[in-house]
Amino acid sequence: MNAAAELPRPARLAARNPLTGLEDYSFDVASRADVQAACAAVRQAQPEWAALGVAGRIAVLQRLSTSFEQHQAELIAAIAADTGRRRIAAIEFAGVQGMIAANCALAPVVFSDAAERASMIPGIVGRRQLVAYPVVGVIAPWNFPLILSMIDAIPALVAGCAVVLKPSEVTPRYVDPLRKIFAAVPELDRVFRVVRGPGATGADVIDGVDAIVCTGSVRTGRIVAEHAARRFIPAFLELGGKDPAIVTADADLDRASTAVVRASVLATGQACQSLERVYVDQRVYADFVRRVVAKVQPITLTCHESNGHIGPFIMGRQADIVKDHIDDAIARGAKLEIGGHLVEQGGRWCEPTVLSGVTHAMRVMKEETFGPVIPIMPYRTLDEAITLANDGEYGLSANVFAGSESDAQAIAERLEAGLVSIGDASMSSFVMDFEWEGFRLSGLGRARIGVSGIARYLRVKAIVTNRGPAAGVMDARDE
Ligand code: NAD
Repeated sequence: MNAAAELPRPARLAARNPLTGLEDYSFDVASRADVQAACAAVRQAQPEWAALGVAGRIAVLQRLSTSFEQHQAELIAAIAADTGRRRIAAIEFAGVQGMIAANCALAPVVFSDAAERASMIPGIVGRRQLVAYPVVGVIAPWNFPLILSMIDAIPALVAGCAVVLKPSEVTPRYVDPLRKIFAAVPELDRVFRVVRGPGATGADVIDGVDAIVCTGSVRTGRIVAEHAARRFIPAFLELGGKDPAIVTADADLDRASTAVVRASVLATGQACQSLERVYVDQRVYADFVRRVVAKVQPITLTCHESNGHIGPFIMGRQADIVKDHIDDAIARGAKLEIGGHLVEQGGRWCEPTVLSGVTHAMRVMKEETFGPVIPIMPYRTLDEAITLANDGEYGLSANVFAGSESDAQAIAERLEAGLVSIGDASMSSFVMDFEWEGFRLSGLGRARIGVSGIARYLRVKAIVTNRGPAAGVMDARDE
């Protein structure tokens, strides 16, 4: 019996508007039969898509880029309504255009090694064939709804796979324009479907595909991995983080404090690679905390100013988690330097918050906060700082600010994280030229960008020919 068939779900779901707090949008939830039909339809169309070859698929994806352009205003408006963020909605749009261009440039490299070559055994030759997983499922989160859907869908499509996307039920509005964008490119319309619904819909997707990629929490990632293991399909997991920064005594404190503030509060801290804890040499600790507080002071909320810096929480419940982390830290002896309050005006905001005197006994230093909170802790020795930065179950990315680049490089090499930023923070969010993958509970599977980001959707097959003398018939002496 398939357990996923048992998961209940409503026929319709409403989505809350992050700015107003009102449920002003609703959508039909895909039934299990709907998901099965979507998977079957794209599965039937996939061989024709794969047969186009990489050059053919690139040409089609370039038309997809044009279609995105044509629906730009409508798509950005929908993402803005989903997330309560206008400027970042436009950045998401631009990011997807960049992803299409990057994957079209890389795909020929992935498929380039098809030439026949000789074996070490005389007379035998072979060649490599890359065979796409027919149908890839993409399960996406709510924090960057468009980018985190397309970052995996585009490489899977260019690899020759069909894709079934399950967006987060928290941010469903962008699906309407997205469907139009794909519908305008008939070749892609046949191999791309979106199914909307809660986790149960995601489980149905896993039942209908040949590989699954999920961006979300560790809790969900574990369920997805177990489900995929039962089906014996690969699961690529892009999960949470608790990114640290180390600031040494001789670092440029002005530069470091600016980067720390930006990387912690950007997007209300609702990013997997948000900077969530800072370790500062005790000799410059007070100075650093003062600088961070001064830079947090002018940051405004979008509820107070129509054009403020920090938007509302996309998922209303997230505000309570963030407040719990702040309250727990204060109850255990942390000092609230600035901020610390939720602002409730229909939507839910949190003031950018700086905590000093924090320890690893506090939730804010160990669990993913996903809010605009900057906890800063002093350290005595570099070894202690590195031990603290590596203390935890996540290993997404990390940040180092040191007096010299060689010092920073040496620290970076000792950090258990997939990407380490030096001289700036959270570069994993905007630098897409270097492959990396989440360590520990932050991820599973090969890098989602670069050549690996395409190659992970391809199975490697060898076709081997013996042109020399046939191998002899076996007889007893062969043993
Ligand atoms: P979530 O885990 O609640 O949900 C993610 C997706 O999984 C949603 O579409 C959800 O409906 C689906 N889902 C839930 N249960 C499922 C099940 N049993 N089977 C299949 N699918 C199921 O995560 P979220 O709250 O939407 O996103 C925030 C989390 O995502 C944070 O932990 C954040 O760090 C992480 N994240 C990671 C990255 C990354 O690249 N590593 C990027 C962004 C967000």
